[in-house]
Amino acid sequence: MLNRRHLLIGTAALAALPARAQSAKLPVVASFSILGDMVARVGGDLISLTVLVGPDGDAHVYQPTTGDARAVAAAKVLVVNGLGFEGWMKRLLGAAAFKGTTVTASNGAKIREMDAEDGHGHGHSHGHSHSKPGGKPARIRDPHCWQDLGNAKVYVRNIAAGLAAADPANASAYNANAGRYTAELDALDARVRDEISALPVEKRKVITSHDAFGHFAAAYGVSFISAVGISTEAEASATDVAKIVRQIRKERVKAIFVENMADPRLIEQIAKEADGAVGGKLYADALSPPGGPADTYLKMFEHNTRTLIEGMRKN
Ligand SMILES: [Zn+2]
Repeated sequence: MLNRRHLLIGTAALAALPARAQSAKLPVVASFSILGDMVARVGGDLISLTVLVGPDGDAHVYQPTTGDARAVAAAKVLVVNGLGFEGWMKRLLGAAAFKGTTVTASNGAKIREMDAEDGHGHGHSHGHSHSKPGGKPARIRDPHCWQDLGNAKVYVRNIAAGLAAADPANASAYNANAGRYTAELDALDARVRDEISALPVEKRKVITSHDAFGHFAAAYGVSFISAVGISTEAEASATDVAKIVRQIRKERVKAIFVENMADPRLIEQIAKEADGAVGGKLYADALSPPGGPADTYLKMFEHNTRTLIEGMRKN
């Protein structure tokens, strides 16, 4: 299901797609891979799903394709994260003549806010983070809500409601799928809490490349220090790098991680300058390709938790 997007790239592949062979299924588009997996769990085989930003893709800086516009134009439901995460969506919708319903998965989620100036001086990355004229610094809302399993349950509820509204005949099936999935999310949430709370608080410090784990930090009690702000669009200055290197040395942080969809070079440079080593890969804003260690949302969360704990034990 998640691979459909690859079929949609290029017009030859598009022409080869059976036009409405699956017309009995509800056509749904999800903006990125993590959301796509949640939608697939709730929709099951009742939907035909297209995911726009695929595995290991960076949804902060994505360039929509003409195939994406075709998929959105044909969709009955479009599921997005919201909170400024998909900055390119407005442009895509302008090009796509979408006539269905948009579900904003993060509606009602617990949202982490911070001053535009926070986040280690990198709050300049998002279009919506500018100060109001003459006013106080604007507040940035962290879009990475999925890094808290409690928020994922809100996503699932919104997805189920959206699919049920677009396809009322199958509402009970969507709700049943959502119920089963939610029970799995609850079970994993309890396990993550147990495992992290077993680590001494002073060891729970992690270095990552961009500020994608604020929700994880708030939900599970881990401190993340990121080299750039909330979007991968930002770039770290030499001063930023020097500051984070000093902090790693001073606090002797060993848990240094690259992210699957971001350029690893910045973190590799920081680790080297701090005489440390990269401790592994976290899946921040995208799943792994199928067959990888994080090819579903639940596996992604388990992988990240395990990787974080292994790294933090060395702190
Ligand atoms: Zn991100």
